[in-house]
Amino acid sequence: MRAGILAAAGCVTGLILCAAAAGAAPRVVCFPDRPSPGELFFVNVKGVATDGHLEIRFAGRVFSLWPRGETMWEGLAAVDRDQAPGEVELAVFEATREVPLSRVSVRVAPRDYPEQKLTVPERTVTLSPEDQERAAQEAQLIARALATRSLSRRWEAPVLLPAEGPVSGPFGVRRIYNGKAKGYHGGLDIAAARGTPVRAPASGVVGLVGDFFYTGNTVFVDHGLGLLTAFFHMESAAVTEGQAVQAGDVLGHVGSTGRSTGAHLHWGLYLAGVRADPMSWVRLASGVGDGGE
Ligand SMILES: [Zn+2]
Repeated sequence: MRAGILAAAGCVTGLILCAAAAGAAPRVVCFPDRPSPGELFFVNVKGVATDGHLEIRFAGRVFSLWPRGETMWEGLAAVDRDQAPGEVELAVFEATREVPLSRVSVRVAPRDYPEQKLTVPERTVTLSPEDQERAAQEAQLIARALATRSLSRRWEAPVLLPAEGPVSGPFGVRRIYNGKAKGYHGGLDIAAARGTPVRAPASGVVGLVGDFFYTGNTVFVDHGLGLLTAFFHMESAAVTEGQAVQAGDVLGHVGSTGRSTGAHLHWGLYLAGVRADPMSWVRLASGVGDGGE
């Protein structure tokens, strides 16, 4: 199947998206042409023949590409939710080289995220010393899982929603817990009844399973090349670390564990450590403006 993201490059070749440098430099196309803070975008590079790995550097992060054919490369990059709008350089490198093969300018669109007020048990906002220590240890475990950069892509389009239900908390909204500003919502909340199966959105390997202070019963799946998704607040987990999963496999069941206001699934996505809206992955993988191939 060539649907979805694999067709995205074909969909946009007629558009001037990001202009590659003059001469024999590789042609670089980004989709969408004006990515928003907090979203993934697709990158297609044509005209590079190498046995090595290709990567792009964008806004201080490194994103891996995968080969497609002899001289074409594809990949995903993420715009940090707090990235200021405007022109941001995107450079294409061979992984071991310091001189870029190509540099283009990506125009990041402005994006204003709304605010959401929540009331939760006070002990989950003002932590006891014991809970602080526990949360700090768990943050280290999670950071280690997110630092994983497996060398090949493990997922294929299409990408599934991990649970059925309305979106009760969009990605990126500013969160006020019990009157205190606590950053922004780093994932997508899907309202679903307790016990609803949580399914892998795409294939990967289970990178971390735990019962954590903030996120409750938690599973991280490593989809390869620095892309991980996370499933929080579950009633229970149904997988173990190191287990390979296919799209649709049950990872656990919806619950309300950790800092949660009711049964729902929190679905998080991280690319090269950047948190982004999982729906932007679903959209890219389902072939926005389908019709390329
Ligand atoms: Zn959430």
